[in-house]
Amino acid sequence: MNPTLARPGTAGLPPSTETWALDHARELYRVDAWGDAFFAINELGHAAVRPLGTDEITIDLTKVVAALERQGVPVPFLIRFQDILRQRVQQISSTFSAAIADAAYGGRFCPVYPIKVNQLHEVVEEVLDAGKAVGLGLECGSKAELIAALPLINDTERLLICNGVKDQAMLTLILSAQRLGQRVIPVMERYSEFCEFLRLAEQLGVTPRLGVRVRLATRGSGRWGDSTGTRSKFGLTVSEVLRLAGELKNRGMHDALELVHFHPGSQISDIQVLRQAVKEIGQIYAALRKRELIIRYVDVGGGLGVTYDVGASGDETLNYGLREYANAIVFGVKEVCVQQGVPEPDLVTESGRALTAHHSVLIVPVLGAVSREDLKAPLAPEVLKQPRVAELANIYEHLQDGATVEYLLEAIHDSKEIRGDLHTLFGLGYLDIDCLAAVDELYWAIARVVLSGLQKLEWNPPPDELVELEEGLTDQYLCDFSVFQSILDHWAIGQSFPIMPIDRLDERPGRRARLVDLTCDSDGRVSHYVSALADKSFLPVQELEEGTPYYLGFFLMGAYQDILGDAHNLFGRVAEAHVYADAGEPDNFWIEKVIPGAAVQDMLAQVQYFPNDLHRRMEELVRARISEGVVRPSQGSEILERYRACFTETTYYKPFGSKAVSE
Ligand SMILES: *Cc1c(COP(=O)(O)O)cnc(C)c1O
Repeated sequence: MNPTLARPGTAGLPPSTETWALDHARELYRVDAWGDAFFAINELGHAAVRPLGTDEITIDLTKVVAALERQGVPVPFLIRFQDILRQRVQQISSTFSAAIADAAYGGRFCPVYPIKVNQLHEVVEEVLDAGKAVGLGLECGSKAELIAALPLINDTERLLICNGVKDQAMLTLILSAQRLGQRVIPVMERYSEFCEFLRLAEQLGVTPRLGVRVRLATRGSGRWGDSTGTRSKFGLTVSEVLRLAGELKNRGMHDALELVHFHPGSQISDIQVLRQAVKEIGQIYAALRKRELIIRYVDVGGGLGVTYDVGASGDETLNYGLREYANAIVFGVKEVCVQQGVPEPDLVTESGRALTAHHSVLIVPVLGAVSREDLKAPLAPEVLKQPRVAELANIYEHLQDGATVEYLLEAIHDSKEIRGDLHTLFGLGYLDIDCLAAVDELYWAIARVVLSGLQKLEWNPPPDELVELEEGLTDQYLCDFSVFQSILDHWAIGQSFPIMPIDRLDERPGRRARLVDLTCDSDGRVSHYVSALADKSFLPVQELEEGTPYYLGFFLMGAYQDILGDAHNLFGRVAEAHVYADAGEPDNFWIEKVIPGAAVQDMLAQVQYFPNDLHRRMEELVRARISEGVVRPSQGSEILERYRACFTETTYYKPFGSKAVSE
């Protein structure tokens, strides 16, 4: 057994002999990788936010949390940094402008925001406002989204693109909006939809304008790769597109088809796939253009990726940055246009994830730790009368920190054997339960000493004993949130989200923890973590301190999670706060708005339980018990009062002694 170079299991954690520095924390939690200049660790060891993406303004996250708690907002809550949204809109636009200038590209950049990524009214308004200068528009994919988005755009140059399967009500509404002069473009997903649309337009006497989604041969990459390619559930085949073009030409409608579209799937990991698809859509555009259809826009869909983690699973690692993404589109379309001698179209992108992911942070308190039992008091003399228990106690006594590797390993081997024997004796009825409890306490106490001894050395590879002990001594941290409400994609598709304590980052994280939530579901846990360690099955954390809250930040929560959230166990939406940066404020921020989380009664109503009915039933129940003499009338009415008061409670855990939430 030769301790040699670094153990892969702890790459990123400096040996315990080295003093802990903030840079260690930065590296351990990979803040620089996913933080994208928006998140950092400040000199106090607190998580910090840089809403402008520069160090011009830095906000201490613990101060935002403290300010919200002073206002009585109960944890868990979501904090939205609206400036980050604006910043992302600007970063994406200016990068495309730069690519367009470099390529001497003849068309414009016309971003649209797909609202399915986060439909929250304030988010959409903020994105629209930040994108005013570049004429940013919206994309919707359902009737409800169309109805929400339509009145938000009152500028006839800003696009509203409608994807998804459209029924008569939706197509009619789109035509009405076109009559109003709005730049609404329905993207035909099926040939039959196109026929319906033309028929309705004729009926209503509106000159229709439309787009078409093309099934490209290029298959997407990554998790959503199946949403593209010739077998995709969306879009028209090339021959259907030609039929559609022929039909429009026959009718003399040369400028009705305004846009050709594809969507490569979300979180593109390999830029090569996008390049290929861009060439393909470019050729289709050029071919149609040569058939005298005056198409104005080429829409390359969404899919611009976000770095949640690096090097973890292949799917999540991007091999490109924003500038390369923009170049792939601008230069790709340009090349085809030059080759085919057609004018350069305006370029539409539908980036959703990349726009919104960074702007929100979920703050989750840890309610407690479930750890292995520890030796709390000296063992009772009766317990030590059992010779095998005494042997175990003896091993524990003789383990000192300076013990050699051989000694440590022998100690744990012996202890395991003794513990196994004693468990067998218990099963046979030859060991009493007090002894059994003592055995486990002793065993884990020994395990802790052995583990810390082994961890002082550097291993490559680590011995099985070390791996097993680390595993066995990982704590469970019970967190006040629901995986299904707040990070559904983690459960559904195994997506990683960066998680890090927001405080005490200047302390070495001495514990290994697995995070579990409040739901009664064994899947209600975080199963893999973003860290620099090779073993992603736990999060390095600090030990909990009695009486001091310990908060974790869940980062990059802004895309999809808000709306995918599910009411498992009736945990509802968490409260949220909208925060703006302002260098004139004492702590560089102000809280614009707080939206309360769902109360118990809101969640009950979703499944058809209503307060009046429940109150009435509970009253009947209590009255019956009063008449049976089980409780006195005064006790009965007290019980009823308590029951009623619970309807406005938060669905999450409220620490003992905290004030009732206001209604
Ligand atoms: C979901 C979707 C988007 C957004 O994709 P992101 O990966 O979030 O950028 C864009 N366009 C269409 C058609 C979509 O369905």
